Amino acid sequence: MKILDVENLNLGFMGENRFNQALWDVSFSLHKGEMLALVGESGCGKTVSAMSILQLLPKTAKITSGTIDFYGENLINTNRKNLQQIRGSKIALIPQDPMTSLNPLYTVGDQLLEVIKIHQHLKGKAARQKAIEAFEAVQIPSAEERLKAYPHEFSGGMKQRAIIAMALACNAEILIADEPTTALDVTIQAQIMNLLHEIKTERNTAILLITHDLAVVREHADKVAVMYAGRIVESAPAKEFFEHPRHPYSLALLNSIPSNRGKSLETISGQPPSIQQKIEGCTFHPRCKYCMDICQIKVPPEFNVGENHFSACFLNDSLNRKSDKD
Ligand code: SF4
Repeated sequence: MKILDVENLNLGFMGENRFNQALWDVSFSLHKGEMLALVGESGCGKTVSAMSILQLLPKTAKITSGTIDFYGENLINTNRKNLQQIRGSKIALIPQDPMTSLNPLYTVGDQLLEVIKIHQHLKGKAARQKAIEAFEAVQIPSAEERLKAYPHEFSGGMKQRAIIAMALACNAEILIADEPTTALDVTIQAQIMNLLHEIKTERNTAILLITHDLAVVREHADKVAVMYAGRIVESAPAKEFFEHPRHPYSLALLNSIPSNRGKSLETISGQPPSIQQKIEGCTFHPRCKYCMDICQIKVPPEFNVGENHFSACFLNDSLNRKSDKD
């Protein structure tokens, strides 16, 4: 069942004297129990796309067009009260640094109980029981005892588990996990990803995973959307993406991960453009080894290259355009 549908989202930031567009017609959807990975280099628009859902954007940001449909309601037009209700209770954020969500002055238990009180309207023993269950669900040992601890008494992985527990305590239907394991060491990274995978499968929770780690995506995601310079340039079911990547940027990303043994690792030459930079045609063309004349003057449309698989690249021009079919 589809629960989130982002359609043609355009967004920009007001600079000193001009408006800089950061997202161009970004579209993706999430079904129950599905993990969508938004991948790409830093600054490509992954986090801004995800934060748009919760309207957690800087004051200079402005959504100029598009819709963010959550159970039939456009979150762009919804009122502040409704949005606050949705944040945390229906759509929860798992940030890169859990300390941005935990207050060092209060015990983790008090913070979890506060969330349960606000979003589940539970108090006293019932709230405490819910908190213990949430800690147990994320495999925090000695749950009752650990509720009395302060954030600084938790390791990085435990803090991240506590944040996930807060989302579970509210029965959030969507988790937005923004590079949730970047600050953790490798073993703990795997544990947190396994935990998210378990939540997705057992609770039917939808997860929007923002990451640059394609090895994690290969192991856990159901769908992949590759972003470059504020656009989704390729989107596909994960298995199809890893077996038949079609966009040169996706190929370059895949060739730069160590798990592709047998092939020599490649780096992608050059840098992604900043949002102030205006690039004619395909924004990837200055870095693309397949660049053709047309790429420097025209923005490539989305071409259907498989079932639920599109690539925005003129190399796929012989196939049917997605937009022609819609
Ligand atoms: Fe490269 Fe052209 Fe495809 Fe862009 S449209 S990715 S420049 S081949």
